[in-house]
Amino acid sequence: MKSVFDFGLNDWELWCSERGLPRFSAKQIFQWIFQKGGKDPAQFTSLSLKIRQALAEEFNWKLLEIDSHLISRDESEKVLLRTADDLLIEMVIMPYDNRVTLCLSSQVGCKRGCTFCQTGRMGLKRNLTSGEILGQLLIANELLLPKDRTVTNVVFMGMGEPLDNYDEVVKACRIMLDENGFGLSSKRVTISTSGIVPRIAQLGRELPVRLAISLHSADNEKRSQMMPVNRLYNLEALKKVLIEYPAPHRLGITFEYVMIEGVNDRKEDARRLIEFLHGIKARVNLIPINHFPGVEMHPSSAKRLQDFQTELTNCSIPAPVRYSRGVDISGGCGQLAAKREGELHLDPRVLHRERRRSVLNVL
Ligand code: SAH
Ligand code: SF4
Repeated sequence: MKSVFDFGLNDWELWCSERGLPRFSAKQIFQWIFQKGGKDPAQFTSLSLKIRQALAEEFNWKLLEIDSHLISRDESEKVLLRTADDLLIEMVIMPYDNRVTLCLSSQVGCKRGCTFCQTGRMGLKRNLTSGEILGQLLIANELLLPKDRTVTNVVFMGMGEPLDNYDEVVKACRIMLDENGFGLSSKRVTISTSGIVPRIAQLGRELPVRLAISLHSADNEKRSQMMPVNRLYNLEALKKVLIEYPAPHRLGITFEYVMIEGVNDRKEDARRLIEFLHGIKARVNLIPINHFPGVEMHPSSAKRLQDFQTELTNCSIPAPVRYSRGVDISGGCGQLAAKREGELHLDPRVLHRERRRSVLNVL
């Protein structure tokens, strides 16, 4: 049975026309589901009984299930969600004074294998559907309801490489931006990518969202070691596509730069970065690496961080240091590996091996 959350406005229009229903019913159904967060078609009172019955009979209305919910000292919340086929994904809700940012997942795991990232260590299990991506937003809004707040900003910085799941991510974004869907401003939806060059070009042509690039080194050899994707799309190819990317003029492109002691944090690394950014309207988020079990990399010292930052700001490149939120609940950047409370200390490879084994034992 199809999930109702996978249907976009076009799909509803087709569904209505196949049943001889008026076109405006399609918009109403779409609004009930995404704008109003309705989960029970019996309550869609502006629609005829016949439509409500058809909706109930023909579709699966089950959202992702909440598996566990961890709340950080800094008030961010990590929520593990269970898919219909029993896989776990994660989202992180980060409330600020004037906005609420949701960091959501686009895949279960990731195939890109960056050495410093826990998600990468899980490997890729599968892509999420647009309904599962939007389901995260629906559930986050439901959790925020008692506080009288809703998600205002979305960042695709959870599990997965969004541009490896291009079609479903774009479909979900369109519904986020649609005034009859979630009505989010395009400046408040950010797709972060490790640099899948042809897809960046396509995204630039198709969707007016903000772009963040996980750069981490402006030296090809070093970047290829840290991020195997650089062997496919090197820095020259990446730069070319970024220069052509139609980013909002005032905002430009955000670059994520994980600061790792002795690896990419020297003055020379900063100089190369400045050279790479020449000609691009850029800001660089400097993120001291979040250490995790099974990895021998450590965050740069405060002095190194400061020196690196100074190099950039001297060249008029804004470079705020970003300490991840939710680190105590393994909810920080690169820490998302479907870990429950009590599992946070585990190496993701060991954890997922154990989980596979326990499933086999049960069978
Ligand atoms: N796959 C996409 C989206 C995930 S975003 C991408 O890579 O851009 C997750 C962000 O956290 C990326 O910028 C990633 O490089 C960063 N990250 C990964 N591991 C990290 C770690 N251990 N500490 C801090 N940031 C990390
Ligand atoms: Fe995948 Fe991004 Fe992690 Fe690299 S940093 S392994 S691309 S999620």
